[in-house]
Amino acid sequence: MEPLVDLTPDFRPSTTTPLQSTPRWKKSLANVVRDPAELCKLLHLSDIDAAELGKACADFPLRVPRGFVDRMTKGSLSDPLLRQVLPDAAELVETQHYSTDPLDELDANTLPGLLHKYTGRVLITLTSSCAVHCRYCFRRHFAYGDNRLGDSAWQNLLDYIERDTSITEVILSGGDPLNLPDSILVSRVADIERIAHVTRLRLHTRQPVVLPERIDDTFLSWLGKSRLNRVMVIHANHANELDHSVEKALRAVASTGTTLLNQSVLLDGVNNDANTLVALSERLFTCGVLPYYLHLPDRVQGTAHFHVSDERAHQLQSAMQARLPGYLVPKLAREVAGESSKQHL
Ligand SMILES: *Cc1c(COP(=O)(O)O)cnc(C)c1O
Ligand code: SF4
Repeated sequence: MEPLVDLTPDFRPSTTTPLQSTPRWKKSLANVVRDPAELCKLLHLSDIDAAELGKACADFPLRVPRGFVDRMTKGSLSDPLLRQVLPDAAELVETQHYSTDPLDELDANTLPGLLHKYTGRVLITLTSSCAVHCRYCFRRHFAYGDNRLGDSAWQNLLDYIERDTSITEVILSGGDPLNLPDSILVSRVADIERIAHVTRLRLHTRQPVVLPERIDDTFLSWLGKSRLNRVMVIHANHANELDHSVEKALRAVASTGTTLLNQSVLLDGVNNDANTLVALSERLFTCGVLPYYLHLPDRVQGTAHFHVSDERAHQLQSAMQARLPGYLVPKLAREVAGESSKQHL
């Protein structure tokens, strides 16, 4: 058996600092690729104008962990992982009926950092930062960067949850909550655990996929100890994202008794294809993850080139249904502002 967590030489506890060495994932996070020219070089893409790419990412910078880049095919501009992170001049095109806040989230923010749109569950944006910047992200127009929820905002939000006994599930989202150091995550979750009517904790995170070293022993032992029923909803759009290191991380999360689900976004040029979606579902299951939602992309300015029509989405879902057991077919979903749940198509 392989160990669940790699201990590379630089992370082996040294004799001088036995406890406080920087976790390996933080080094990876600090070392993500941010320069379009460097990304092109790493992938042997010589015919791209990196200066043009720079313009497309002025508002929403390029950001991609090196381990994720390693899973891309060199020399291929159409690589489905590259397509998700590579800035594109098409992002600068203004499209009619596309908005910068299609879900009216700026209104639904009951309190800063808290969205209470659906009965029984609240969604908390603990941080606005992510390890990766996905070009199709609807949050691309929000204030990105390392905006963390401060202590007084956090206390207001705890009071809100405490007052409303119908809230049984707390969803930590972002950004990516696993971008936060363990110390913050541990203290925030401990506060939630003290509220008796909360029974479920959900983590919405892309980290196990884009930065699997985040799932280290410290994180795993903490996760396993929570009194809450835990659900981790990861985000992968293509089977190639789920390499061996990701599988190991996900299996380790599952071994803590945490239920694993995946949400994908249906994206032209990435997974707008039945074979690709079938392969994704099968690969997810091998990693111990069930498909949950396949989201139709929101109409966000700068993302129209990823758009897939409703008709095509229905075709793809029928094709999946014809080829997969029911539990491996994700629900086709869309978020509609003001509705009492996600809209299932
Ligand atoms: C998506 C979402 C949820 C979770 O919805 P589920 O259907 O339970 O997965 C909860 N709150 C908000 C604000 C959301 O956007
Ligand atoms: S990880 Fe999620 S929140 Fe972060 S940029 Fe990607 S889609 Fe957006």
